[in-house]
Amino acid sequence: MSPRTYLDYNATAPLRPQAAEAMAAVLGETGNPSSVHAEGRRAREYIEAAREKVAGLVNAKARNVIFTSCGTEANMTALSPQAVAPEGASGTHCFVSAIEHPSVLCGGRFEQADVSEIAVGGDGTIDVSSFAGQLENYRSSNPSGTFLVSVMLANNETGAIQPVAELAEQVHGLGGVLQCDAVQAAGKIPIDIASLGADMLTLSAHKFGGPQGIGTLILGPGAEDFAAPLLRGGGQEMRRRAGTENVAGIAGFGVAAEIAARDIEDFRRIAELRDELEIRIKSESPDAVIFAERAPRLANTSCFAVPGMKAETSVIGLDLEGVAVSAGSACSSGKVDRSHVLDAMGVEPGLAECAMRVSLGWKSQAADVEQFITAWSLIHHRYQEQAQAA
Ligand code: PLP
Repeated sequence: MSPRTYLDYNATAPLRPQAAEAMAAVLGETGNPSSVHAEGRRAREYIEAAREKVAGLVNAKARNVIFTSCGTEANMTALSPQAVAPEGASGTHCFVSAIEHPSVLCGGRFEQADVSEIAVGGDGTIDVSSFAGQLENYRSSNPSGTFLVSVMLANNETGAIQPVAELAEQVHGLGGVLQCDAVQAAGKIPIDIASLGADMLTLSAHKFGGPQGIGTLILGPGAEDFAAPLLRGGGQEMRRRAGTENVAGIAGFGVAAEIAARDIEDFRRIAELRDELEIRIKSESPDAVIFAERAPRLANTSCFAVPGMKAETSVIGLDLEGVAVSAGSACSSGKVDRSHVLDAMGVEPGLAECAMRVSLGWKSQAADVEQFITAWSLIHHRYQEQAQAA
C-alpha cells in the first residue's frame, strides 16, 4: 500500500510533536488550576505560560487571552449584543460577511432579524467602499444604534485574505465593534491584533499544529472590559469563560503557537509547493478554474474546479489513491453541501459542485505534491475517458 498524503490542513493540521509532548507532561499530573495548593498552582503555571505564547502569536496582551473549547465557541462568545452594548442597548445590529464559517454566519447570540450579510466580489474578498456604503446606510437610519461587524481574516475554502484593517477603520469611524475570525490565518500569515484593528480575535489551535478542542477569543486594545461570557458559573478565565480549563489542551496550544510564530517564514516554501501544484493542474487541464486566484491568498490553499469533474467523486477517488483532500464545500456533517462561499462569489452552481480544496502545511513536502498530481492525473484521465464515452 502506498503511503498516505495528507493535504487537508484547513480541516485540521497534524499535531506538532512538541505540542504532544507538552500535553503528555500535563496529563501525567493532577491539579485543578483554581486550587490553591501546590498541584493547583502548577496547573495554573502551565496555563499562564501558554497564555503568554498564544498572545505572542498575534502580539496581544496575555491578560486579554480567553481560552475557550474551540474556535466555534470563541465566535459564539464574541457574537453577542452584550459584547457591543454591555448595558443592553436595544436594536444592536450584527453584520457578518457572506463567506464566514457557519459559527459566525449563524449570527451567534443575535436574533436572526438583527443580522445582515456583507457581500463579497467574484474574487472572494469584501469590497471596502461598498462595505462603507452599507455601514453608512445603517448609520443614517440608526443614528444612535450600536453594531458589531464580524469578518474573517482568511477564508477556509479559498484562502482569500480580507482587507480587515481597512474594514476596521470604517467600523470604528462609525462607532462599531469589529470581531475577526483569524482561525485559518493564524500561524500562516503574521498577525498583529492592534494593526488589524480587531476588538476581538478568534483562534483555534488545531489549524496550526495544536490539539483539537481548544481555542481562544483574544481582546484587542480598548476592548478589555468585555462583558458577554457565553458560559457562566465559575470565575475562570477572569470571569469571562466559566468551566475548568483544558490544561493539557492549553499547554499544547501554547507550544504550537510558539512554533507557528517562529516558523512563519516556512510559508514561503509552502507557497512554492502550492504554486507548483496549481501549475501542474493547469498544464494537465487548461480549463481548470482556480478560485480567488487573483485575490491576496493564503500560501497553503488551493481551491479549484475542472468543469464537469464532480468534487465528491474526485475526493473519493483521491482517497482510494492515498490522498486526503476536501471538497471545496465544508462537509462538517459528512455529506457535501453546496458551498455558501462559492455561492457568495457568484460561482455557477454546476462549477461549484466540482470545487476541491487542497491545503498544505508544516509537514508538506514536494513528494506530497507529486503524489497528489499522480493520483489526480489518474482520476482526471478516467474522467476524460468517461466523458468522451458518454
Ligand atoms: N472559523 C473558521 C474560519 C474555520 O475554518 C473553523 C474550522 O473549520 C472554525 C472557525 C471553527 O473552529 P473549531 O473547529 O475550533 O470550532
